[in-house]
Amino acid sequence: MRQPPEEIKIFLLNLAKILGVRVEKILDLYLYVSPDTVKIVEVVERGSEIAGVRLAVKSKKSDVWYYTSVGHYGAKCTCRGSSVGGKICRHMVIGVITWSVISLLKTGTAIDPSALHWLKYLKETEK
Ligand SMILES: [Zn+2]
Repeated sequence: MRQPPEEIKIFLLNLAKILGVRVEKILDLYLYVSPDTVKIVEVVERGSEIAGVRLAVKSKKSDVWYYTSVGHYGAKCTCRGSSVGGKICRHMVIGVITWSVISLLKTGTAIDPSALHWLKYLKETEK
């Protein structure tokens, strides 16, 4: 099992807290990310920071790929769960995790999930 670097561990803990889910669930999503399951379509760079990413995420159950984009101001996904109910889906969470890992690799800083207000907003609409 891949052990996340310290900065990512802290990020995953914060993300779990914000989403109100167990950290194991977030760690599962982190571990789901591999070259076979997640393809990076675009990395959005603004100045020296990574402002967001666009990804294709393979469905857990079938060969379907969902297109997800995440950034400071919101997230979109082509999966049914998110487009019907405006809910946050696992692909968006995978998007934020991948974004944070890319940001750490490229700039030395992980994403601060508490700065992503849409995470809370989408969570609230899910109830
Ligand atoms: Zn989705």
